[in-house]
Amino acid sequence: MRDIKELMRPSAAVLEPYDPKFTPVEINLSANENCYAPVDIHDKVMRELELTPMNRYPQPLAPRLRKHIAALYRATPEQVIVGNGGDELIFNLFLAFGGGGAKIVNCPPTFSIYRLYAELCECTVVDVPRDPKTFALDEPALLAQAADARMTIVTTPNNPTGTLTGLDFIEKLCAAAEGLVLVDEAYLEFADAPSAAKLLDRFPNLIVLRTFSKAFGLAGCRVGYVLASPAVIDALAAVRQPYSVNVLSQIAAETVLKQLPRVQELVAEIVEQRAFLSEELSKFDELTVWPSAANFLLVRVPHAHRVWETLRDEHSILVRDFSSTPGLEGCLRITVGRPEENVAVVEAFMDILALAEDWEDE
Ligand SMILES: *Cc1c(COP(=O)(O)O)cnc(C)c1O
Repeated sequence: MRDIKELMRPSAAVLEPYDPKFTPVEINLSANENCYAPVDIHDKVMRELELTPMNRYPQPLAPRLRKHIAALYRATPEQVIVGNGGDELIFNLFLAFGGGGAKIVNCPPTFSIYRLYAELCECTVVDVPRDPKTFALDEPALLAQAADARMTIVTTPNNPTGTLTGLDFIEKLCAAAEGLVLVDEAYLEFADAPSAAKLLDRFPNLIVLRTFSKAFGLAGCRVGYVLASPAVIDALAAVRQPYSVNVLSQIAAETVLKQLPRVQELVAEIVEQRAFLSEELSKFDELTVWPSAANFLLVRVPHAHRVWETLRDEHSILVRDFSSTPGLEGCLRITVGRPEENVAVVEAFMDILALAEDWEDE
């Protein structure tokens, strides 16, 4: 028999299994989840789950949830499709629209999944890097590259930099591109900014991605959705696995949507905590803290990897280490936690930065 790797699709043979590197810790601020996990919402979801039959297949397009989402954006259900997390929808976009070396434009540093899935689906990824200091988009270069691209991706607020992109630029981009424009709004609930969804009626090439994983606190349930023109939605419906969003996840998402005012209350608390954490961390001379419109902060710190390790091993705090990602040298990403967790982060930095004065330069 031949070597298994030789039997693989070449674009898959180069990949390693994904490892989120979750270590058991007391304070997990590594994955931009909603750290509040409110009991009242949890209880309501559990009550609905109990009433949900599990012997029947789910409705593929989750019609009740789809209608509810459409109403939030004054869109029609035909402009909405749900997926097994936003990640599945990103994959399905490349499956439906990529392949054969199709040109995908990406703006790093950003979410690593885009390049990974695009290449797996045999697309060619062209990078238009963000400004190395401010992480702002290179707007003229992006407009030029987008013109003949199959799909251009803008994440706003961007992960992991927290950078917001204005709708006026998204509008220009949609007008300049002959292909699709994906606006990933996974964190938009935490920003004081309108959704690009309001441009949908003007631009049939616009795709807006949202998720229940961050503000809505359902990362474990895996539900995301896309808002786009009915033709784009049809293409995604054609390639999707019909039952990818299970009955329990559909019910969970519907139930949290009915709790929208409560979710908005929690989001407001997270935004306040973001200001607290940002202000406190900015007081350390050694740290650079970027402004963030999301539920996390990107910081640059000397000896970043060792700081990350010490946070984990001595303080039981897990954050995300980006220090070996190009353009993010010395950077850690810290999810905004509950008030006592954020205080623990500030105190841990106080300890570690005092120790780090004696660390040799790497
Ligand atoms: C978290 C995230 C998503 C989607 O996550 P899911 O849990 O798969 O819904 C999409 N884009 C970005 C930039 C994210 O950070």
